[in-house]
Amino acid sequence: MNKEQKLIFEYSKAGRTGYSLPELEVPDVDMDAILPAEMQRTDSPELPEVSELQIMRHYTALSTRNHGVDSGFYPLGSCTMKYNPKMNEDSARLKGFAHLHPYQPDYQVQGAMQLMYELQEELKEIAGMDEVTLQPAAGAQGEWTGLMMIRAFHEANGDLIRTKVIVPDSAHGTNPASATVAGFDSVTVKTDERGLVDLDHLKEVVGEDTAALMLTNPNTLGLFEEDIQEMAAIIHQAGGKLYYDGANSNAILGIARPGDMGFDVVHLNLHKTFTGPHGGGGPGSGPVGVKKDLIAYLPKPLLVKENEAYKWDYDRPESIGRVKPFYGNFGINVRAHTYIRTMGAEGLRKVSEYAVLNANYLMRLLEPYYDLPYNKHCKHEFVLSGKRQKQLGVRTLDIAKRLLDFGYHPPTIYFPTNVEECMMFEPTETEAKETLDEFADAMIRIAKEAEESPETVQEAPHTTVIKRLDETLAARKPVLRHEFSKKEEVYQS
Ligand SMILES: *Cc1c(COP(=O)(O)O)cnc(C)c1O
Repeated sequence: MNKEQKLIFEYSKAGRTGYSLPELEVPDVDMDAILPAEMQRTDSPELPEVSELQIMRHYTALSTRNHGVDSGFYPLGSCTMKYNPKMNEDSARLKGFAHLHPYQPDYQVQGAMQLMYELQEELKEIAGMDEVTLQPAAGAQGEWTGLMMIRAFHEANGDLIRTKVIVPDSAHGTNPASATVAGFDSVTVKTDERGLVDLDHLKEVVGEDTAALMLTNPNTLGLFEEDIQEMAAIIHQAGGKLYYDGANSNAILGIARPGDMGFDVVHLNLHKTFTGPHGGGGPGSGPVGVKKDLIAYLPKPLLVKENEAYKWDYDRPESIGRVKPFYGNFGINVRAHTYIRTMGAEGLRKVSEYAVLNANYLMRLLEPYYDLPYNKHCKHEFVLSGKRQKQLGVRTLDIAKRLLDFGYHPPTIYFPTNVEECMMFEPTETEAKETLDEFADAMIRIAKEAEESPETVQEAPHTTVIKRLDETLAARKPVLRHEFSKKEEVYQS
């Protein structure tokens, strides 16, 4: 089905509808009694007017042109795109969960509170933390929440000069951003030739103004920070705290715990590691765990268990306050709890063993054809460099576009920025060996094309509905309703 993809607005005909409603049985709303006339809109919003079948076909067609884990291999590094077991969906749709109202009194929702409590306990165990909050709605919000707690801790100690958060140059962009939003200045620490934090540089930048070090381990290059205990000692001796970005914990489940490595605060992305669906801006969940001396600062209310009953503790004078209305994204919590329970402790450990095995297998298949900047055992992801191909005039962006012709979602590209022409792959634990073999064949073919017929790669994609797009134009110059007639012009200018 390779016909041109129209926009839904192009099917629109004035007066056509995709619904039928019964006659109104109650008096119509008198708008003038609700809103002053000058505040009411005078013309209808320009929404597409289409039949039910048209809208059904439109979205079905779009869905088949989308990349998703359910339709194809999606090796996006640093943002775990793993399979979302459908059993999670069944649990989240159970009426007793799906039909709850956040204003129901505690005695009516003890089951939901029990689920949240048990999930907190599971995450405490997985991360090696003393207490957990499920409130934050995303990884980035978890980072901010954690940093606000670190800030409250230093302020409570009268330690007001701690204004700096140290972040490695390979860190996810949300790390320095969260530090800034939490009122800190972020300071960069360099990566050394091993692909790990440069210890000498860390010693240089740490000082009495250090509030925290933010780190992910394995780091964003997919390498385990072997010196983590020494780093923890350096930061703690200086009076700072260690923050663990656990958005992607696929390498450590049941094997290593941030709490044991010396971290004081951790956030986990339930929508990555714990199989909540994500991408496209869906609901996330970024629970935060802390060690004992930060518990007082956790967002309130805190879920506690007393005499076999669950209740919300609001009496928390040192809390940083609420970070999200109600109690977090409950549906994602149900999915994560279902996943953790179905896997069990042994299953979770296997997740990480297979994730690491898959990454190393794929890395070795591709190593002869692309530059491998850090030639050692990787964890759940690895980076390659397209340097060799660039010398032939083929950029990493071209390689990513060419992968679309083979039906693959490309890896993360040009990140981390300390690797030239970087490509970052994360083949998760649920991928079969055959999938990895086929993907490697496509990558190897592209490497050969770069040598023999570079234009094939430079002009890709050839098989998609829309060919190569201007990467930034759509953001800089969105197509407005009245410009549809000029669509071609706008896209190609
Ligand atoms: C995804 C990710 C984040 C941010 O999580 P969001 O839920 O997207 O806000 C932070 N750090 C790392 C390493 C990530 O991969």
